[in-house]
Amino acid sequence: MDTEVLFLLIVPCAFLVFGLGWLAARIDIKHLLESARTLPRSYFRGLNYLLNEQPDQALDIFIEAVQTDPDALDLYFTLGALFRRRGESDRAIRVHESLLVRSDLSETDRARARYELGLDFLKAGMLDRAEQSFASLRDTPQENAALAALMDVYQIEKEWQKAIQIAQELEQKSGQDLRKKIAQYYCEIAERALALSQDEQAEAALLQAFTAERTHVRAAILAGDLSLSQGEVARALSYWLGIEKHSDLHLALVAQRVMKAYVTQHQAAEGLRLLHSWLQKSASLDVLEVVFEQTLQQQGPEAAHQLLLLELKRTPTLIGLDKLVQSRLNMSHGQVREELEIVKTLLYQYARRLSRYTCSHCGFKARQFYWQCPGCQHWNSYVPRRVEELEVMS
Ligand SMILES: [Zn+2]
Repeated sequence: MDTEVLFLLIVPCAFLVFGLGWLAARIDIKHLLESARTLPRSYFRGLNYLLNEQPDQALDIFIEAVQTDPDALDLYFTLGALFRRRGESDRAIRVHESLLVRSDLSETDRARARYELGLDFLKAGMLDRAEQSFASLRDTPQENAALAALMDVYQIEKEWQKAIQIAQELEQKSGQDLRKKIAQYYCEIAERALALSQDEQAEAALLQAFTAERTHVRAAILAGDLSLSQGEVARALSYWLGIEKHSDLHLALVAQRVMKAYVTQHQAAEGLRLLHSWLQKSASLDVLEVVFEQTLQQQGPEAAHQLLLLELKRTPTLIGLDKLVQSRLNMSHGQVREELEIVKTLLYQYARRLSRYTCSHCGFKARQFYWQCPGCQHWNSYVPRRVEELEVMS
C-alpha cells in the first residue's frame, strides 16, 4: 500500500488533530474529544494494517466497517476509485461489491456503486461484466454516464453497430452532439467491408457516415477508395478533391492517391500543378514528398532539388533539410558524396523522430496517422501534420 492510500486515510486524521488544536482555544475541548471518540475503531485498525503493508487485511476491516457506518460512503467510493486508478482492479471490485450488499443503500448510491463497479470491470478488461453493469443502469441517475461507458466498451470490442445504437440513444437522452463519432463508427464499418471487398456494405455504411456528417473527411477518403476499387477513377478523384472545400489540412492525406489517379488518367503534369498549388496554399511535408517525387520524374533531379530549396527557405525544417541532402547526394560523386553521406546519417536520426504524428489530446506519437488515438482512444485528435511541422506552426 503506498502513499496515495495512506494519504487518503491519514488526511482526515490530520485534519481532526489540527482541528482539535485550533478549536480547543475557542470552543469546548470536552465536546471535541467526545466527537473524536465517535470515529469507528475499525478505521484505526485498518490504518494500522495499511501502515504495516498489509493492504488485503486493511481492506477486510474497511469493508466490514462500511456495512455499519452510513457516513463512510464517500470515503469508500474514493478508496475504490483510487484502487482502480492504481491498476488494483480486484481490490476496487471488492470495495464496490461490498457497498452493493448493503441493504440500506439509497437507489442513487446503489446506481453509483454499480457504475463504479462497471468501470472496475472495464479497467480489468472484463468487458462482458462491464457491459452488464452499464446496461443495467438505464432509468437511473447514472444512465448517461453508463451509456457513454457502454459506448467505450463497444468501441474496444469493435462492435461498431452497437456503439452507433448507444451513441444515438445517448444523443437523444443527453442532447450531446455525437455526429462526428457516429460518422467514425460508420467509417470503421466501411473500412472493414472495403478490406473484404464487400462493396455494397461499404457503400451503405459510407452513406450513413455522410448522413451523420455531410463533410466527413474520412468518409470522403473511403468513398474515393471504394470508387477506385470499382475502376471509377474520375469519381474517386471528385471525392478526394472535394476535401479541399472543407479542410486544406487533410489534403495531405490524399496527395499520394490524387497524384496516382492523375497518372492513371495520363494527366501527370496537371496533377503535379494541382499538388503544387496545394503546397503553396498550405505547407505540408506529405504533399511536398509527392510533389518532389513527381518533379523528379517529370522534370529531372535539378528541378526537384530547386523545389526542395525553395520550400526549405519558405518553411525551414530538419525533415526538409534531410530530403535536400538526399537530393544533393544523388547528384554528387567522390569526396563530396562521402561528406554528404555523413551529414545525411546524422540528420536522418533526428528527422525520423520529428516525422511522427502526435495526438493533441494525450501526446501519443505514432509513425502513421490515426483517426482514433491508440493511446487515449480519442477520435479526431491527430492533426495530419508531422511533429516538426506543428512545432514550426506554433
Ligand atoms: Zn491520445
